[in-house]
Amino acid sequence: MNPETLRQYLEFYQDLGIKSVYRRGAPGGGDVARASIAADAVPRSIQKAQSMPTPEAPTPDPRPLTSVSALPPLAPADDTLFKILEDIGDCRRCRLHEGRNKIVFGVGNEQSPLVFVGEGPGADEDAQGIPFVGRAGQLLTQMIEGTAKKEGIPLVRDQIYICNVVKCRPPENRTPEPDEMEICGQFLYRQLSVMKPKAIVALGGTAARAVTGRKEGVTKMRGHWFKWRDIPVMVTYHPSYLLRPYNQNAKREAWEDLKKVLHFVYD
Ligand code: URA
Repeated sequence: MNPETLRQYLEFYQDLGIKSVYRRGAPGGGDVARASIAADAVPRSIQKAQSMPTPEAPTPDPRPLTSVSALPPLAPADDTLFKILEDIGDCRRCRLHEGRNKIVFGVGNEQSPLVFVGEGPGADEDAQGIPFVGRAGQLLTQMIEGTAKKEGIPLVRDQIYICNVVKCRPPENRTPEPDEMEICGQFLYRQLSVMKPKAIVALGGTAARAVTGRKEGVTKMRGHWFKWRDIPVMVTYHPSYLLRPYNQNAKREAWEDLKKVLHFVYD
């Protein structure tokens, strides 16, 4: 891991209130050396969850420090969307901050039993700080509201919650890089943990892979249920893909996927 990525990890754990991490096999530190990342007191729950060796009871481990990513992803027990937003702050944890105008955190009803997850903001979202407000967003709104209406489910877009895997616009709308998704994915993890919806819809392959941890392409995964922790995840096409004129069949399939989700959540 390079020093920049390490710094970003440490900042993330600092945001969570963790004051100290332990480095295995550090020179001059015996088996365990302490690397302070200066913050306030460490909450007990987090100290416990860390289950790391203490300096008083070092655990011999001959392995060199190769990766900090083995540390478990943590969410404070009393986490809220507001806290997550505060922790994101004026984020510079990855290179995506360089080109962004606004951080796009999420929008909608925080108590919604249904959460949609997209890939990352585009130009319109970056300008407004709100997910799915461009052409793809308009199609998404039509799909949600149109399908709900047809199925006799009283639902408008404002009643659900929408967010993305990465919160800053990737340059030229490129796919987010794995390290960008990993860093920002920690906030998505916390958002989903706080909201605990009844179901999640992953829009497109990137969101599907980020949320389910699977490697298959979206064509294979769409229409099927997966899990994020214990929460059912439906994978469907990204609305940007459906905007292409030659994807009429995919559009029909996406409508079918949405129908399944809406009945699962609202029946
Ligand atoms: N595409 C996404 O994945 N997310 C947005 O917010 C907008 C377009």
